[in-house]
Parts: sequence; structure tokens; C-alpha cells
Amino acid sequence: MELTIGEFARASRLTPKALRLYDELGLLTPARTDPRSGYRFYSPAQLDQARLVAWLRRLGMPLARIRQVCALSRADAAAEVRAYWAGVEADTATRRDLASFLVAQLSERENTTMTLALRYALRTDRGLVRESNQDRGYAGDRLLAVADGFGSRGEPASASAIDALSALDGVIPAGELLNALADAVHRAGTAVADVVAANRDDGCSGTTLTALVLSGSRLGLVHVGDARVYLLRGGELFRITHDHTAVQSLVDEGRLTEEEAVSHPRRSLLVRALNGRDVRPDLALHDALPGDRYLLCTDGLHTVVPREELAAVLREVVEPEDAVERLVESANERGGPDNVVCVVADVVTGPQI
Ligand code: MG
Repeated sequence: MELTIGEFARASRLTPKALRLYDELGLLTPARTDPRSGYRFYSPAQLDQARLVAWLRRLGMPLARIRQVCALSRADAAAEVRAYWAGVEADTATRRDLASFLVAQLSERENTTMTLALRYALRTDRGLVRESNQDRGYAGDRLLAVADGFGSRGEPASASAIDALSALDGVIPAGELLNALADAVHRAGTAVADVVAANRDDGCSGTTLTALVLSGSRLGLVHVGDARVYLLRGGELFRITHDHTAVQSLVDEGRLTEEEAVSHPRRSLLVRALNGRDVRPDLALHDALPGDRYLLCTDGLHTVVPREELAAVLREVVEPEDAVERLVESANERGGPDNVVCVVADVVTGPQI
């Protein structure tokens, strides 16, 4: 049995206009098109697909992806829709952070913020396996940063990224923090591009970059790659960065569990880094509270030392200097397979320098 486009439209609760559009876009081809009149005819078996296309369009799925989903079995289509939506939520979370950053910045009043300062320590270590140390860090009165270089030009890449960012270690008015962070990352990206351009042949050198900048009672966060920032607040450890790795994307999409990700052979494969190409860093704003303790570290620490142990050291070791030493020791006790740089910083009240 064949249905005319009007009959099929009524049965599928779509409009003939939508059906013509789906045909033109290659999403739902009529069972038959009369060569002379151009009239479209549909089979009742196509109803399900027509409704599915309509739902996917309502979901906001791009046309090319709808085409892929329609070609899949029901189970595979379900997995694909789940993965698509996980991506949308991750993107929305990033934009939500940016929106709250802007709201906070635009509503900031001068001289109403508490005066806070940082007590900090930094430690970097080659580890027990690598021949050189490509990790770099920075800890100053207002800037904390870590970078993990990779590839044959990894060492100058991480060094130049940290160097470009160090200009942020000064007084930045709260209202200018977002632009200052974005400009600094842009400068860092350009510096890294220059460094890796000197050795185009390997094509895979670059660095991660993760930093916190103190402005008034707020901390601006900028993040590209798989270094992490943890916050110890009220005795509880929170991770406030999202790894830009292929494995984390699979976890986000529900295709891999957190436990599987920990031992995944390609867990360090980055989807975002400073490597000479365009990159979109995560930017976020956090309220700093006296008593907060921050840990910034490269993957040489967080992939080797379990989270519970990171938390225990941060809870128990009072002095930042002793804490970073203890953390590096922990990584080396577990074989020290990678370079480590880590920064521990306490938020304290008091006059800023
Ligand atoms: Mg590393």
C-alpha cells in the first residue's frame, strides 16, 4: 500500500512541507516519486523513521548525524543518541561556567571584596623513568600554573607557555579577569606555536596548560589538557577541572566507565592542548574562601597516586612545602613513570603583597 504525501503527513503527524524538506536533505526518501508529476509516495513502513527524524530534529541534532542515526539498528541508535546528548550537556556545562563568570564579573563592585592571599609551594620532579623533565610550573602571589610538555619540543613548549602566562602574576581588576585570562592563553598559544614550528617534522609537540589567578576574592581558572586542579574544602576533595582526553570523552558519552578509564592504555591521548593549532580553553571563576587548599598537578601525579591518598596528604600535611614534597615522593614510590609538577596553595586572609 502506498500513501500520498498528505496521507503520510496525517499518519506521521508531520507537515507535507517537513516531509519535502526531509526528502531534499536526504533524511527520508519517499518510497516512490512519480517521474512525471513529481508527487511523492510513502510506504507505511516509513512512519517510524519519519517520526524518529522529527524527534531528532527537535533534539537539535545536526542533519549529518541524524542521517547516521537513521541508518543504525535500534540499539546502536540509542547509544548514538545517548552519546550526542552527553556531548550537548558537556558543552552546556562549559558555557554555563562562562556565563556565570561573566555575570560575576559584570556585577562585581569595587572594594567590596575580602582581601585574600595565597601561601604556596611548588615542586617538580623528573620521575624515575623519563630522561628529561618536560613539566613546568609557576607559583606566585597571584598566579599558580602547571604545564606538561609533550613531543620532541615538549620542554620549550611548556616553558614558553608558563613564561607567557607569568604576566598574570600582578594585580588584575576583577572586571578584567576574563579578558586577561583569554589574552594570556592566546599569548601562550602563540609562543608554543613558534616553538613547535621550529620542528614541524614530528608534528606532535605541545603542552597542556592549567592555571589559577587570584583577583580579589575570586580565582579565575584557565585550563587546556589533562593536568588537574583539586580543591580541598571542609575536609572534602573536589576536582574542578575536566580532562581534555579522548578517554574522558568516552566516559562522558557513557561508552566507558570511570574504572575502565583509569587503566585504559590510551588514557593520556589529548583532545585539547596548546600545539600550534586553534584551541578553546575552559574558563571558569571560583569563589576563594579562607581555609581552601588547592592542588594543581600534571598527570604524572594524578594518574599514579590514588585520589584518596592525594586527599589524605592535603588534609594531614600542614605546610604547602611539605605537602608538595610528600606528593612527589608518593609518585616516585609508585615507580615515578612520568614527570611531575605540583603546586599546593592555601587561601588565607591578609594583606596582599
Ligand atoms: Mg605527563
